[in-house]
Amino acid sequence: MDKDKKINNAGATRFIRKEVTENPVSKEGFPHKRRSQPFTVEVAMPEKIQGRTASKSSTPHYSHVHPDANKPSPVLEAIQSAKEKDVHTRAPLHKSSNRMPHRPQHQLTRKVDDLRPIPSAGENIRIIPLGGVEEVGKNMTMIEYKDDIIVIDCGFGFTDGDTPGIDYILPNTKYLEERKDKIRAMIVTHGHLDHTGGIPYIMGRIGNPPIYTRNLTALMIKKRQSEFPTAPELVFKIVDKNEELTIGNLKVKFFGVTHSIPDTAGVCIRTPFGNIITPGDYKLAHENEIPEEDEEKTYSDLGKEKTLLLMTDSTNIENPGFSTPEKYVHRDLAEIVRTVKGRLIIAMFSSHISRIIKVVEACENVNKKVVIEGRSMKNNIEICKEAGIANFKKDTIIPAAEMHNYPPDRIVILSTGGQGEEFSALSRMTAKNYKNVQLTENDTVVLSASIIPGNEKAVQKLKDNLARHGIKILHYRTSEVFLHSTGHGNRGEIAWLHNKLKPKFFIPIHGNHYMLRLHAELAMSLGMAKDHIAVPDNGSVIEIENGEKLIVRKEKAPASPLMVDGFAVGDMQEVVLRDRQLLSEDGMFVIIASVNSQTGKLKKSPDIISRGFVYLRENQELLRQARNIIKKTIEDNTAGQHPINFDFIKDALTDNIARFLFQKTNKRPIVIPVILGV
Ligand SMILES: [Zn+2]
Ligand SMILES: [Zn+2]
Repeated sequence: MDKDKKINNAGATRFIRKEVTENPVSKEGFPHKRRSQPFTVEVAMPEKIQGRTASKSSTPHYSHVHPDANKPSPVLEAIQSAKEKDVHTRAPLHKSSNRMPHRPQHQLTRKVDDLRPIPSAGENIRIIPLGGVEEVGKNMTMIEYKDDIIVIDCGFGFTDGDTPGIDYILPNTKYLEERKDKIRAMIVTHGHLDHTGGIPYIMGRIGNPPIYTRNLTALMIKKRQSEFPTAPELVFKIVDKNEELTIGNLKVKFFGVTHSIPDTAGVCIRTPFGNIITPGDYKLAHENEIPEEDEEKTYSDLGKEKTLLLMTDSTNIENPGFSTPEKYVHRDLAEIVRTVKGRLIIAMFSSHISRIIKVVEACENVNKKVVIEGRSMKNNIEICKEAGIANFKKDTIIPAAEMHNYPPDRIVILSTGGQGEEFSALSRMTAKNYKNVQLTENDTVVLSASIIPGNEKAVQKLKDNLARHGIKILHYRTSEVFLHSTGHGNRGEIAWLHNKLKPKFFIPIHGNHYMLRLHAELAMSLGMAKDHIAVPDNGSVIEIENGEKLIVRKEKAPASPLMVDGFAVGDMQEVVLRDRQLLSEDGMFVIIASVNSQTGKLKKSPDIISRGFVYLRENQELLRQARNIIKKTIEDNTAGQHPINFDFIKDALTDNIARFLFQKTNKRPIVIPVILGV
C-alpha cells in the first residue's frame, strides 16, 4: 500500500487500528496507551532549552522571545511553572503514532510473561533460569527444593542498540524477592561480570544471602562492591575446590574447573534423586583432544554418582572439536616476549586473568619490565597479588613514568583495549597526545583476543590507527602462533562432559536460544530422550517430579530484564527507552506558541526548536510551512472556545505537525508542543 494514502485517506485510521490489535507489542498496552503517560523528558527540558539559548546560531527564532537579556525568559518561566503545575506540557508524545504508518518497532519487552501466580513446588525440585538463557550474559539460575532456595550466579549483561542510554541489564529477580526467606545461598562460580555484575544491585533486593565462592572471586566481588557505598555489606563463605558443605538442608559439593580465570568452581547439589551439576563456564585442559588427568579425575568422580540433572554452558556449541588449549597461548606469548626486538605491547581482556599472570611471569623470566595500562587490568593484578596467586618480584611491574629508564627492548606493556574500545588504553595510545605511552615504529602490538561479534569495525579502526604509526601488528588471524583461545569449551568438550556425567535430565544454559537448541540436539545425538531435555527461556519454571519426570510449567517467573540507567534500577523504563529510541532515530521538534487566552490568537510567530531532525537553517521553507500550520491549527481550534482547552489544542498540534513533517521528510521526530496562555 502507498504510504501517503495511508496518511491521507479516511481508511488510514482503520488500517492502523487493525495493525494495533495485531501488533504483539500493543497487547501489553504499550506503546499505544501512551496517551495517558506523562511525558518523560520534562525534567531535562528547562536546562536544555536554557543551554540552547546560549548558542544563538542554532535557535535563530528564539532570541527575539526575550529581548531583555537581563530578564529571565518569559517562555522558560512559563515552561517551568507549567511543569510545576503539570498542566500545559503534558503532551501525548506519541499520539501521532496512532495515525501514522508504523515503522518496524523495536520491542523493548520481548514477550508477555504468563504471570499467573506460580503454585508451590511441593515435593518437586524446581529450577528457574532467571537469566543467561536468551543471551550471552546476565547469568542467574535458581534451584528450589522444599524449604531451600540456592541461587547460582548473579551476572549482568551489556545492552545492545535496543535500549539506548541504558548502562546494563540485570536478570529479573522478582520471583526471588517474593521468597527471600527461603534463599540460603548465592553461589558464585567465578569472577567474570556475566556471573558477578548484578551483585551490587541485586543482593539487597533478595535479602542479602551469604555468598559462597572461592577466594579470588570473593576479592573481586568485594573490590567492586566498594564502589557502591549504598549497597549492603556482603557476607562471604569462602569455599575451596572439592569442598563439601551443607547449605540449608542440601549438601553442596564444589569442584575445580578450567576457565580463563583462576578459582573457577563447578557446583554439585545433592538431592535424594541424584546430583544437580553445573560446571559454570568451563573448558578442558587437553592435549590432542585427550583431557588432562585433573579433568579426567574431576569428571569421572562426579560421573560415578548418579547425575539427576546437568545444566551447562552453550557459548561455544557452534565451534567443532576441542578449543585451543590455553597453555599453547601461554607458550607462544612467552616466545614472543622472549624474541621480539623493540618494545612490545600486548592487548588482552582484563578478565583473562590466568593469561595476564602467565605473561608477566614470562617477562620476569627474560628480565623484562612490565607496564600495565588500563584500570581494570591494574585492579585485577592487585587482586591477584592479594589472593596470593600472582607472586611477581617487586620490581617487575613498573609505573609508565619509569619506562624511559630502560631500553625499549626490555619493556612490555600489557594493555586493555583489544576490541578497539573507544576509551581503552590501547585506543588512547594511538592518539598523539597520550602522555603515558607514545607509540614508535619500533613497537610491536599483539592483539591477544578474538573479536567479539559487533566489534569488527572498532577493531579495524584500531588496526588502521596502529598501522599509521608504522607499528608491526600480530593478530591471531594473521598469525601462525596461538595468540588467543576461548575460555569456553567447544562442541567436542561439551560432548565429552555429557558422556562423563551421563545425566538423566538436561537443561542447556548460557547462550542465545539457537545455541541452546543446538546443545539440546547434541544431547539427543548422544542418546538422551527429548522429554528429558528442557530448553528454557528466562523465567521458565522447570520441575523434576520424584526424580522421574521433567516438567516445564505453563506459568513463568517474571523475566523482563531490569535496567540499570545511571543510578536507577528498574523495570518500568519502557517509556523512557521509547522516547530515547525515537530521539535517536528521528530527533525532536519543539513548538513554543504564545496564545492570547482571551482571543485564542497567536501573540507572535511560534518558536521552533529541533534537535537531530533536520538542520533548520537549510529548511526555512519547511519551517515557514510548519509555522503556518501551527498558526492555523491553533486559531481554527480556539475559535469559539472560552476558556481555551489547551490539552485539546496540543493534541491537534501534535497530530497536524507530526503528519506534516512525516509527509515532507519521511521522518517522525517526537513533537513536543508547549502552549503559553498569555
Ligand atoms: Zn567466565
Ligand atoms: Zn560466563
